[in-house]
Amino acid sequence: MTKERVHSKTVTEAAKQALNKRGVSIESIAKIVYQMQLPYNDSLTMEDCIYSIERVLMKREMQHAILVGVELDMLAEKKMLSEPLQSIVESDEPLFGVDETIAFGAVLGYGSIGVTTFGHLDKNKLGIIRYLDTKKEGSGVNTFLDDLVAAIAASAASRLAHRLRDQEESLTEKEIKDLDHEEMIG
Ligand code: MG
Repeated sequence: MTKERVHSKTVTEAAKQALNKRGVSIESIAKIVYQMQLPYNDSLTMEDCIYSIERVLMKREMQHAILVGVELDMLAEKKMLSEPLQSIVESDEPLFGVDETIAFGAVLGYGSIGVTTFGHLDKNKLGIIRYLDTKKEGSGVNTFLDDLVAAIAASAASRLAHRLRDQEESLTEKEIKDLDHEEMIG
């Protein structure tokens, strides 16, 4: 028996809601993107960063990573995972790298700037990433969420870097739209 396919709009909405219910706002991610990209673009605005994040959140690879990661965090919070995975995820075991791997996979669609920026954020944990990473014991599990936020911020930063070059090279509105459209596939 074939199961009915889930519509993309349902997945997009679910991914956005997952971030929201875990206390991560688009604005909090935009602050990180702004900090990362301002040195390369002095006319950058918070609105540019928010728009870039919204585009990134339309990508299936990113949506799926968010849904998987947030689900595992929530199951760990409810102590619903099997041992030893329950203890590993709940304690954010330092050698458990699957959280980073899932997030890293979602960044790949935005090329090498996304990858290097993700590495930087993983090490330096800016803004809400640090908050999620250092939340006190007993206040929830965010083992996957901090890496997912880093992936979204890194992708949005990379996207802005490429878009800036398009603008500097005076691409027409249509050419930029075509590139945007191409970016949204997958
Ligand atoms: Mg983590």
